[in-house]
Amino acid sequence: MMMLIDGEWTGSCSEETYEVKNPANGRLVDTAPLGSAEDVKRAADSAHEAFKKWSELTARERGKILFRAAQRVREKQHELAVTLTMEQGKPLKEARDEIQGFANILEYYSGISAALEGRAVSLANGRHGIILRRPIGVCGAIIPWNVPAIIMGWKVGPALVTGNTLVLKPATTTPLTNLSLASILNASGLPKGVLNVVTGNGASVGEEIVRNPLIKKLSFTGSIETGRRVLQAASSSMKRVTLELGGSDPMIVCDDADIKKAVEGAVHGRFYNCGQTCTAVKRLYVFESIADEFVRKLRGRVERLKVGNGMEEGVDMGPLNNRAQWEQIKTLVDRVKEKEEGTVIAGGKVPEGETYKNGYFYMPTLVTDVAPDSALLKEEVFGPVLPIITVKGLDEAIELANGSKFGLGSSIWTNDIEKIRVACERLESGVTWVNQHVKLPPEMPFGGVKESGIGRENGLETIDAYCELKSIIT
Ligand code: NAD
Repeated sequence: MMMLIDGEWTGSCSEETYEVKNPANGRLVDTAPLGSAEDVKRAADSAHEAFKKWSELTARERGKILFRAAQRVREKQHELAVTLTMEQGKPLKEARDEIQGFANILEYYSGISAALEGRAVSLANGRHGIILRRPIGVCGAIIPWNVPAIIMGWKVGPALVTGNTLVLKPATTTPLTNLSLASILNASGLPKGVLNVVTGNGASVGEEIVRNPLIKKLSFTGSIETGRRVLQAASSSMKRVTLELGGSDPMIVCDDADIKKAVEGAVHGRFYNCGQTCTAVKRLYVFESIADEFVRKLRGRVERLKVGNGMEEGVDMGPLNNRAQWEQIKTLVDRVKEKEEGTVIAGGKVPEGETYKNGYFYMPTLVTDVAPDSALLKEEVFGPVLPIITVKGLDEAIELANGSKFGLGSSIWTNDIEKIRVACERLESGVTWVNQHVKLPPEMPFGGVKESGIGRENGLETIDAYCELKSIIT
């Protein structure tokens, strides 16, 4: 596929390309241009040029284009989901949900477009104030490979509806779905230059988006490590920056929880997308009085999960997205076993057999008796491995849950209103779910506390991140 700059489908300045391979079998899916800093400059110039006209449209006119695009995305849902599964690895049913999720996000921002307005304020001595909301200009969006369509929606929706133009960089391993979605947005009426997509590596394309002086705001989603570098580099051009970074979400299962529901919640929360979700359940705290029953049922359920190529019917969990991720997970679990940092009670290995030979597969893994200083609890585990920790009660669970540098999501599983109140009040995270985990509707602001990020995406709250507020005092 080509990349999109100034409304044209184009190769990179260097004419170099790279191969996008299927993580389930190593086969070629397609090629993409290996973009460079020069390509980002072309894209930023084009977005800068397009800004004036685009920002002068009413938000409602911009919203209509997003709505049209959402409808077309729904019509092409299957085709888009197949592309997503082939380049990312997730089961087709998850890919379909993700494509629908992208359409939902565009519809949400289209829906609020008519209500985007400033504010009038009465001041002392009969004076008045008007607060205007103005677009910032050219924005940059850098996205990861785990949920590329949804995260594209989180950035494209609010940036475009508020009148900004955009230069977007897909993750290196998953450019194809993003390019296909950009093509649909363009065909739905976006003027040329409003949305540009430059494919390639973080070190060249990503760095130039972060440094380019024409790009005034940056929304980055990725790891804490890259986020830190991005934040430093963005200061040279005083960019406004939103960072959506890693997480190590705790799930707390109380003694009165509906165990069947909690087991399903843990399975979905941890093993959905092969564990590669920022808000996956990455640490599970269960009350000791129900721990035996809960762990037994969870283990039985996990052992029944079908691992395989996401294109095959009935597959519950696909491969990891890339070799580096796969090696990281293998090394981590091997170290847990060697150093006796925990007891592996399910999985803990690469599956054997012809189906798995050329893919990045790993068995869904459960670990109990986890050492308090294990990397399983300290670092973000971005793969299908769930550490389970037994606690005496809610105070201990919350203390352990909060003992992390991360603060993205958390969940409490109970029907006791007092436990829910205490957990929602005290858990240090940007979102707390009650008797569920992972789902992020576009209506709800989302982001992390502590090292999990800066700022929020989604909801009405993200609109201000894409606007400059101007006060007029009469
Ligand atoms: P990553 O940080 O390696 O890469 C993210 C993006 O940044 C990619 O497009 C990459 O090419 C680009 N990049 C790499 N180096 C760069 C640089 N120097 N300058 C600019 N851009 C650069 O992350 P990843 O491995 O693609 O994704 C996994 C991480 O993303 C996990 O930590 C996960 O928790 C996090 N994540 C967070 C959220 C959230 O909303 N909080 C959502 C999804 C994923």
